[in-house]
Amino acid sequence: MIRQFELVERLKAYDPNADEDLLNRAYVFSMKAHGSQVRASGDPYFSHPLEVASLLVDLHLDCYSIVTGLLHDTVEDTLTTLEEIEHLFGAEIAKLVDGVTKISLLELQSEKTQQAENLRKLVLAMSTDIRVLLVKLADRLHNMRTLHFIPSAEKRRRIACETMDIYVPLSERMGMHSFKDELEDLAFAQLNPEARESVLSRLKYLHETTVNPVEQIIVELKEVIEAAGLSPQVSGREKTPYSIWVKMQSKNIAFEQLSDIMAFRVAVTSIDQCYQALGVIHSYYMVVPGRFKDFISMPKDNGYQSIHTTVIGPMNHRIEVQIRTQQMHRVAELGVAAHWQYKQGESHDGRQYAWLRKLLEIMEQASGPEEFLEHTKLEMFQDQVFCFTPKGDLISLPKGATPIDFAYAVHSAVGDHTVGVKINGRQQPLRMVLQNGDQVEIITSKTQSPSPTWERFVVTGKARSRIRRFVRTQQREQFLELGRSILQKAFRNEHKKVSEKLLLEAAKRLNHDTVDDLHVAVGEGIHTGGEVISALNLEHKQSSPAPPVHSLKVKPAAVSDTAISIKGLIEGMAVHYAGCCHPLPGDSIMGIVTTGKGVTIHTQDCEVLGVFPDTQRVLELAWEKNDLKLHDRRYLSRLKITFLNKPGSLASLSTTISKQGANIANIKVMNRTVDFWDILIDIDVKDLEHLKSVMAGLRALSILNSVERV
Ligand code: MN
Repeated sequence: MIRQFELVERLKAYDPNADEDLLNRAYVFSMKAHGSQVRASGDPYFSHPLEVASLLVDLHLDCYSIVTGLLHDTVEDTLTTLEEIEHLFGAEIAKLVDGVTKISLLELQSEKTQQAENLRKLVLAMSTDIRVLLVKLADRLHNMRTLHFIPSAEKRRRIACETMDIYVPLSERMGMHSFKDELEDLAFAQLNPEARESVLSRLKYLHETTVNPVEQIIVELKEVIEAAGLSPQVSGREKTPYSIWVKMQSKNIAFEQLSDIMAFRVAVTSIDQCYQALGVIHSYYMVVPGRFKDFISMPKDNGYQSIHTTVIGPMNHRIEVQIRTQQMHRVAELGVAAHWQYKQGESHDGRQYAWLRKLLEIMEQASGPEEFLEHTKLEMFQDQVFCFTPKGDLISLPKGATPIDFAYAVHSAVGDHTVGVKINGRQQPLRMVLQNGDQVEIITSKTQSPSPTWERFVVTGKARSRIRRFVRTQQREQFLELGRSILQKAFRNEHKKVSEKLLLEAAKRLNHDTVDDLHVAVGEGIHTGGEVISALNLEHKQSSPAPPVHSLKVKPAAVSDTAISIKGLIEGMAVHYAGCCHPLPGDSIMGIVTTGKGVTIHTQDCEVLGVFPDTQRVLELAWEKNDLKLHDRRYLSRLKITFLNKPGSLASLSTTISKQGANIANIKVMNRTVDFWDILIDIDVKDLEHLKSVMAGLRALSILNSVERV
C-alpha cells in the first residue's frame, strides 16, 4: 500500500504546484470515512481508493483527479454526503466525485436494458469532464486486479462481462492501451480461464523448446539503426494472451510465427528520426508488402501515432516493427490521459475528444436503449463466431448466426438481396449455422427481397429488424393494393362510381383516419366490400352477392374484367396458396378473405369453395401473366400416379420428372401390389403449362397406367 508522503512526492514530481494540503486532507478524510470497512480480500477498505489514486498518479493526472480518486467511494459507501464533500473540497471536486458515484450506482442495475442506459449515462458523464472516466477506469482496474477475492462466481462473472463490454472498449477508444490490455486480460482470466491457460501453456512450450530469438532480434535491430547514427530504444513485447487467443480464433490457426505473438518497438527522439529509422530498416531488410501504415502523418482518432511496418527481419523472422518517438509512445500507452493538461485552470482542448461527441450523437439518435445496446454493445467473445468475407475481412457474429446474419452484417443491401451462400467454397443452405473460421460468400440478386421465412433462423437484431420492417411495409402495401381492388370491384358491382370523397367518408364512418387505412383494413379482411358500401348507406343488394360458386366451374378461364389480379405478391404475407388444391399459375382461381390474414387462393373447382358460407368473402382472382414471368418462383403441385410394378419403374418415373425440369418434393406410397404401384407425388413446377408437360412426359412411359392431378 502506497503511503501518504509517497503519493504527495510522486504528484509533486510532475506537478510542483499541486495543492499538497488538499491531497493530505482528502487522504485523511477518506481513511476516516471508510473507517473499519474491509474489502473482500480482508484488506482495510481504504486501500482501494488509495490504490486508485496511485494509478491516477501513474497517469500523471492533475491534483483534482487524484483527490477524486481518494474520495470516489465515500458518498456511495459511507455516511458522507455530497454537500460535505463540496463544503470541504470545493464544487469542482464534488462534481467529479458525483460523476463517479453516479456511474457506480448505475452499475448496480445489471439488467440488459439498464446496461445500455449505464453506458449512455456513463459517456454523458465523461463527456462533461473526462476526468470522471479516468477515475472510473482506475477504479475498475483495481477492482479487476482484486476480483478473485470476491466469493460469488456469478458476481465475478458479471463484473468481468461488464468490463469486457463497457470498460475495455472505452479504454481502447481513449487510446489507453496499457489499461485496455490489463483490463482485458483480467476479464479474460475470469470469463474463459481454460482458453487463457491453453494460450499460456502453448507460449511456455514455445519458450522452452525453441531458442528465443527475441533478444537477438533486438540487438540486431539496434545495431542496424545505430549504424545510421541514431540512438534508438528497441524493445520486444509479447502480445497479451487474450489478443493471441482472439487471433487464433479468428484465423483458425495455431500461432507459430513470431509476428503473431511479438511486436517490436523502436523509440527515437524526433519525427525526423522515425522516418530515418524506417528508411534504414527498409533498406536493410525485405519489406512485406501491404503492411506499411503511417499513423504519424495520419494519426488515429484517439491521437495514436506510430509507423507500422513488417519486414523479413533478423534470422529471416517475419516481424512487425512499430517506430515512434518517446512522446508518441507515451500517448500510445496512456492515450487521452497522456494529453491531459494537469495545470489547473487551463481549458480543455475539445478537438481531440471529437470522437466523444460523435459517440454521443450516435447515442442521441438511437431510438431506445434496446436498439442502442444492439448496435454498440460488444457481445461476449465466447458467444461469438468469427467468419471471413471472400476478401478476408473479419465479421464477428453471435453464436448460432446464419448466412443471412452475415449478409446483413456486411451491408443491409447485401442482406436484402441474398439468394444463396457458399461456405468455404461450397453451396450451402441459408439456414446453415456458421462456424468459427468459415469463409462466407453471399450470392445476391437484384430481384431478391427479404423473405418472412428468414426471420426463423436469424439471430442478430440488425437482420431481424430489417426483415421485420421489410415484411411490415410490404404486407401493408399488399393489403392496400388488395383492399383497393376489392373495393373497386364492390363499387362496380353496385354500379357506383368510386370517388376519393366517398372513400374518405366510408373511412371516417368505419373509424379509419385515411383512405389508405380503409384499403388496408379491407385487404386484411376486417371489412368486406359490402360492409363498406353499407356504411355509406348506399343501396346495397345483399341478395345478389358474387354468383354461386358451383356455376363458376363452367365459366371460361379467361380473365374477366372484374377479377382481381394477383401480381408481385409475396407468398406468406397477404396471399397464401391453399394446401388443399395447390393452385398453379394458369389455373382458374378464387380467393377467400380471412380476417387479419388476407387472401387464400384456391383453384376454382376446389371443394372448399363449394362449402364456404360467406360469399361476401369469396373473390374472383386472376394471375397477372407478365409479372409471374419475372419471378422464378416454384409452386407445389400434387399428382396421383398408378404404374406397373417392375424393376426400375420408380427410377424412370423420377428421371422423366427431372428431365422436364421439375423437382420432386415428396413421394408417398399409397398402395403397392404385385402388379401396380399407387403413389402420391409432390413436385415443384413453374405453372400449369409446366405441370401439363410433366404429365405428358409421364404418360409417354410404357409403365404408366394413369396420372392425375389431386
Ligand atoms: Mn471504487
